[in-house]
Amino acid sequence: MNSLQEHVNPVKKVNLLDFDRKGLAAFFVGLGEKPFRATQLMKWIYQEDVYDFDAMSNLSKSLRAYLNEHCVIATPEIVIEQVASDGTIKWAMQTHCGNRIESVFIPEDDRNTLCISSQIGCALACTFCSTAQQGFNRNLAASEIIGQLFVAQNRVSKANRITNVVFMGMGEPLLNFDNVVASVNLMMDDFAYGLSKRRVTISSSGVVPAIERLGTACDVSLAISLHAVRDELRDELVPINKKYPLNMLMDACRENAKIAPRRFITFEYVMLDGINDTLEDARGLIKLLKTVPSKLNLIPFNPFPNSSYRCSSKETILKFKTLLNDAGIITTVRKTRGEDIDAACGQLVGQVADKSRRHLKLKNAA
Ligand code: SAH
Repeated sequence: MNSLQEHVNPVKKVNLLDFDRKGLAAFFVGLGEKPFRATQLMKWIYQEDVYDFDAMSNLSKSLRAYLNEHCVIATPEIVIEQVASDGTIKWAMQTHCGNRIESVFIPEDDRNTLCISSQIGCALACTFCSTAQQGFNRNLAASEIIGQLFVAQNRVSKANRITNVVFMGMGEPLLNFDNVVASVNLMMDDFAYGLSKRRVTISSSGVVPAIERLGTACDVSLAISLHAVRDELRDELVPINKKYPLNMLMDACRENAKIAPRRFITFEYVMLDGINDTLEDARGLIKLLKTVPSKLNLIPFNPFPNSSYRCSSKETILKFKTLLNDAGIITTVRKTRGEDIDAACGQLVGQVADKSRRHLKLKNAA
C-alpha cells in the first residue's frame, strides 16, 4: 500500500489535525506534492486561523480541490462551558462518537494553563481519582488532543494566549503514546503553537516502558504521579505499580532526567489524610527523591461523590512541605483551582460510555 492509500479512507475524510509536521509532510509526499506543503498548511491553520482550503492561496488549485474532497480540519466541539469564581473555565467537549471529554483553562498572573485529556475515561484504576470510576472508552486521536488546545485558544481569544499545557485531564497519556506525541510535537512546533518544552507537561502514573520510549521520542517535561513511597501502599493507590514497581519507575525517571542538562522530573503527591501523610512517608519521600533531579508538587486531595478518602489537614500539608524543602527538595503545594465547578485534579469526568465495564464492577463491589 502506498502512503496515499494508507491515509485516504474512501468513507472517512482525513483529518489534517491528526498529523504533526513530519506526518503531514509524508501525507503530501504521498500525494506527489513537495514536503514543504506541510509548513504552508500549518501556517494557515495554526497561525492565520484560515480553515477554508479555497482561501489557502499558496496551494495549487488542484491541491485545494483534492483537500476539499478528501480532507477536513475537525475538532471536538464545546457543549458545556462553566466559569468558576476564580476565572477557571471548564469545558465539556463532544467528540464525533458522542462521548464527552473535559478540558480546563486556568488563568494566572504570569501564565495561562490548559489542562487537557488524552483518553475518553481511563483504563487505570487509581482509587482516589474520579475519572477512574468512569471506566474507559477509547484513546483520543491526535486531532482530538490538539483540538482541545485549538478550540480553547479560539474561545478565550488571542488576548489570553495559552502559554502552558498539562496532560492532567482525563486519561493516562502514556497509554496513548503515538497520538500524544504527535499532538505534543504540534504544541512545540514553531509553525503551530511554538510552546517551549518546559511549558508542555505529560503527567503519567508510571508506565515504565513508555517513559523510556518518551525519552527518545520527544523532549517534553515529565510529571510522575507518585503518591506513595512504599510498594505496598502504591499498589493500592496506583494499581499500575503492581506491574511497574517503584524501583523500576525510579530507574526510568533517572534515565529520563539524563536527556538534557538541568532537566528535572516533577513528582506529584496527593495528600490523603492518614494514608500517605505521616512523618515516615515524608522521610521516605526525601530518600527516594534525592536519587533523581526532582521537584515535588503536593496536591491537596479533591473529594468527589463516593470517595472514601479525606484530604490531609492544612497543618500536615505545610509540615510535609517544610520537611521536604528543608531537606533540599523544592516542594510546592498545588493551588486548587475551579473548585466550585469540579474542575480540580481528579475531578474531570466528561461523559463516557464505559467499555471496560468498570463502573459496574465498582457498583457491585460497593
Ligand atoms: N493519568 C495521569 C494524568 C492524571 S490527572 C496521571 O496519573 O498522572 C493529573 C494528576 O491529578 C495526577 O497526579 C493524579 O494522580 C491527580 N489526581 C487524581 N485524582 C485526584 C484527586 N481526587 N485529588 C487530587 N489529585 C488527584
